[in-house]
Amino acid sequence: MADMSKLSEEGKTWLDEEARARAMEALRLRKEENSQKEKIDNARLHAGSSMYFYCRYCEALSDTLPESYIDPPTRVCKDCKPLKDAGLLDDQPS
Ligand SMILES: [Zn+2]
Repeated sequence: MADMSKLSEEGKTWLDEEARARAMEALRLRKEENSQKEKIDNARLHAGSSMYFYCRYCEALSDTLPESYIDPPTRVCKDCKPLKDAGLLDDQPS
């Protein structure tokens, strides 16, 4: 039986060094892939169209909001969020 208590004893999260390296590599590949994809340019949409927002780290679609949105759009996708929460991603201006 696996000893799961050992992990928490050492205060480790999934973001140990190896997991971190894997996550950063996955991010790099994701960004490379997403950069090839065509993005929707909000400025070219018809009035009344939803607005599209992309992850500032990997360029994945991270949010769509009605044109009259009030809340700020999510600019971090679900894949990058854990990395950002762990402080591995620099804050970049949107
Ligand atoms: Zn992302």
